[in-house]
Amino acid sequence: MDYGTYGSRAVELAIDLANAELDPPDGVREFLHAHDEWLSPGTSLELSERDAAALGRTSRLIRAVALAESQDDVLRGLNELLGLARPRPYATDHDGELHLHYARADASLLEQVTTTVAMGLSQVVVQHGWQRLGVCSAEGCDDVYVDTSRNASRRYCSNTCASRSTVAAYRARQKA
Ligand SMILES: [Zn+2]
Ligand SMILES: [Zn+2]
Repeated sequence: MDYGTYGSRAVELAIDLANAELDPPDGVREFLHAHDEWLSPGTSLELSERDAAALGRTSRLIRAVALAESQDDVLRGLNELLGLARPRPYATDHDGELHLHYARADASLLEQVTTTVAMGLSQVVVQHGWQRLGVCSAEGCDDVYVDTSRNASRRYCSNTCASRSTVAAYRARQKA
């Protein structure tokens, strides 16, 4: 998905964190390895039990923000998330592409992830509105997403869920 016009690709990390199966230790490790592009080079991917639990709370908080149904509730959750962040941005091209990192290069793993997701999510909400966050309408899927469509018409987390639902609706019509 193209998050390029949505303030920051960091929101992608927030969405992935909200949707991740974070069962320790494997789920946590898998998530961190899949997203190590957001960490300053050399950051250890080992998370203490305590920090893994905090990561789980952050994941649930992002989900709560995406599910919230009023601007007030979104802002409350967002500000709780931002309260956990320790922003100290810097620009880098460590992977060949210019981009921002949001936490100090020597911040702990948890601090880097928490800060990045808080900044990414709040930029999208502030620039494009809280309605841009949603939860998938497909049966059996509760993944959250950021709606990057031009007319904010998105209802599914992915093309897979969208076409699955189209097929299901078609079959239901056939049956009727
Ligand atoms: Zn980077
Ligand atoms: Zn879905």
